[in-house]
Amino acid sequence: MKVMKFGGTSVGTPQRMKDVCTLITKDGQPTFVVLSAMSGTTNSLLEVSDYLYKKNPEGASMIINELERKYMEHVGELYATEEWREKTRKFLQEEFKYLRSFTKIMFTSFEEKVIVAQGEILSTNMVTNYLQECGVNAVLLSALDMVRTDKNQEPDFNYTREKTIDQLEANKGAQIYITQGFICRNAYGEIDNLLRGGSDYTACLIGAAIHADEIQIWTDIDGMHNNDPRIVEGTEPVRQLFFEEAAELAYFGAKILHPTCIQPAKFAGVPVRLLNTMDPAAPGTIINNEMHHGKIKAVAAKDNIVCIQIQSSRMLLAHGFLRKVFEIFESYKTSIDMVCTSEVGVSCTIDNTAHLADIENDLKKYGMVSIERDMCIVCVVGDLSYKNTGFEAKACQAFQDIPVRMISYGGSNHNISYLISADDKKRTLQALSKVLFE
Ligand code: ADP
Ligand code: ASP
Ligand code: MG
Repeated sequence: MKVMKFGGTSVGTPQRMKDVCTLITKDGQPTFVVLSAMSGTTNSLLEVSDYLYKKNPEGASMIINELERKYMEHVGELYATEEWREKTRKFLQEEFKYLRSFTKIMFTSFEEKVIVAQGEILSTNMVTNYLQECGVNAVLLSALDMVRTDKNQEPDFNYTREKTIDQLEANKGAQIYITQGFICRNAYGEIDNLLRGGSDYTACLIGAAIHADEIQIWTDIDGMHNNDPRIVEGTEPVRQLFFEEAAELAYFGAKILHPTCIQPAKFAGVPVRLLNTMDPAAPGTIINNEMHHGKIKAVAAKDNIVCIQIQSSRMLLAHGFLRKVFEIFESYKTSIDMVCTSEVGVSCTIDNTAHLADIENDLKKYGMVSIERDMCIVCVVGDLSYKNTGFEAKACQAFQDIPVRMISYGGSNHNISYLISADDKKRTLQALSKVLFE
């Protein structure tokens, strides 16, 4: 079976939903479909939550009303028969009544998670109803019964595998299995999510759980481009990526993939294909276990990075210094992306700044601490194993006129990372495209 995931733009209008249904039923084979919320819905639901946090139920109600108006309009366009229009309208009325109920109660992050989950619940119900109206044997499975995170907020893969297989078994014989991307339960059974862009993660978790033949991520562009197409002109699709290369690009900012979604596919050895809903015949990108040697594949950039430097003459010849420093980050559950060390200091970067003040405070026990904000990691990905000569030097040429705060190379065979000021991001990405791909 294959898993097909469609992002927000791909289900963004009634016509797009119809196009998705054509794509998923084309080969007549049983298919597992993961859907995002219609584009803009998750943002609107977050806005509703923001008003409710600010104790402004009128503001929240205005957005809910506008969303309801749009969704009711979609019903008229999507369904051909009054029977399915009526059925879907009833479902939407219940959904929006439920959303309104949050304007009358105390609001916490728990309620926010429930509100934000409704986007995927709306889109999957609408598409399932459409397929059923068209006579397709489609069943809607709740991601809340299959996807769970553990106490570290990491997906509980064994649970997902067991529950997904149970659900397939209980609904044997269907042609299309649909579920919500992004949403899940946490270790306490509460509704939660896999963070923004998390539908990719759901697709890869389910694809790995059922040992799918392939996980297809359908979006609005022809595969992974060799640089960020929102910033650099003339970027081109990369047709093949090794799992590790795709994982590095996703983690270091290539928005087309959720930062950690490649891991489960890689462990299960299930290839991931990135495809374009707007141009289904385009080849896209295949991500698999083949390493093509001697090539730099792509560049990505990760924003909102903070650089922390700890300098201490006590580090000189002292063992255990780095352990003490890293333990502080660990105690605040803050992961480190880049690290550079010298005899008398260490610099590292983080992107989760929730505990920055506490981390800074604790680090001061061990040395002079300085913090630089608004930094950006630019990551060059490809076959960068150390015996290949010339590639590192070539990438570095792009930085001739750009101040570089840190460089990290050798952590894996696939990546060089540069830390620069966010102000230099655009010209850095442009310079890298020129040097590496023109
Ligand atoms: P979806 O809603 O389908 O999940 P996303 O918006 O999350 O889609 O991801 C697709 C977008 O990612 C593209 O429209 C593109 O602007 C952006 N993007 C950023 N970097 C890259 C890249 N290297 N290759 C392709 N797309 C990228
Ligand atoms: N709807 C969620 C978001 O907008 C998840 C996703 O689209 O992948 O982030
Ligand atoms: Mg996405």
